[in-house]
Amino acid sequence: MAKRDYYEVLGVPRNASEADLKQAFRRLAMKYHPDRNPGDAEAEAKFKEAKLAHDVLSDPKKRAAYDQFGHAGVEAGAGGFGGGGPGDFGGAGSFSDIFGDVFGDIFGGRAGGRRAQRGVDLRYDLSLTLEDAVNGKEVKIRIPTQVDCQFCGGTGAKPGTQPKTCTTCGGVGQVRMQQGFFSIQQTCPACRGTGSVIEEACSHCRGRGRIQEEKTLSVKVPAGVDTGDRIRLSGEGERGEQGGPPGDLYVQVQVQDHPIFTREDANLYCQVPIGFVAAALGGEFEVPTLDGKVMLKVPAGTQTGKMFRIRGKGVKPVRGGPVGDLVCRVTVETPVNLTERQKELLREFEASVQEGGSRHNPQSHSWLDGVKSFFERMTQ
Ligand SMILES: [Zn+2]
Ligand SMILES: [Zn+2]
Repeated sequence: MAKRDYYEVLGVPRNASEADLKQAFRRLAMKYHPDRNPGDAEAEAKFKEAKLAHDVLSDPKKRAAYDQFGHAGVEAGAGGFGGGGPGDFGGAGSFSDIFGDVFGDIFGGRAGGRRAQRGVDLRYDLSLTLEDAVNGKEVKIRIPTQVDCQFCGGTGAKPGTQPKTCTTCGGVGQVRMQQGFFSIQQTCPACRGTGSVIEEACSHCRGRGRIQEEKTLSVKVPAGVDTGDRIRLSGEGERGEQGGPPGDLYVQVQVQDHPIFTREDANLYCQVPIGFVAAALGGEFEVPTLDGKVMLKVPAGTQTGKMFRIRGKGVKPVRGGPVGDLVCRVTVETPVNLTERQKELLREFEASVQEGGSRHNPQSHSWLDGVKSFFERMTQ
């Protein structure tokens, strides 16, 4: 392969900083590493080229020589910096170096030799009334939180004593294991990655260094949330280990059943029972909504099951979109506990309705006709 300019290989400017170089190499290594491209000779060549460029440019002396003399300045045996030469690549040693060096801090995020761990996410179930879910609300919740034990100052060791450096890992918190080409880092089993062991535990926190307390958080519930929605409070989960970032808190919304309304997406539904006389004569009825009352006009001759839609009296969805409607389903109520006088009036009424034939009760008449022809067909 013709030698390309090392800066060009890494895709960095000539004044690139050490961090820029490392980042550029890391990116290329992730892409072309032979382990990720088994049997791909081109990828391997690209990887070697990038490693060579990085090896030269990350060494200030070699970089200076390269800047001044080009490839000739750093070539092995050409008055360069010998020792196998930067072009030399191969052997298991180089592979594991690269993994330890480049991949180690991509995946590990080590802090002071110990592995930083992001805290655990927490979940809080928040029960809301329909009104609060629809209108939004600021609610205070109490959640468990870990704080440093005040008796041992967070070390977990009995007050007056100190944790000892772990002898298994020498305080690093990690042990290396060689596996074929790669050396793999593992959390030290003796100290579980903390790098230190406690001989006598603090009795207050039982050696954990932390105690559980409760903290109060204010949660802004946006208007329009529904059951199943969740609100993320970034960084309010459990705190991280070894300097790692805290987890998040997820507030899971659960909307309580409402005595009047049921919700379906942006629409609200309610039942409106009306008397049979009102259903027959028509009229206006007061209907509740989540923000006050409205009048619902019911025409004469309204039947049970008839739906009336009141526009814009539903819910404004939390993720945007038009405000839903309030859908009222009318049920006609049959009167009960009638007095003799009322019964008398109804019988009188019924007699006058019968005179009108099917005009007044079209449904029951057509139903009766249907039943009649059904029986006729059966007896044929
Ligand atoms: Zn303690
Ligand atoms: Zn250890």
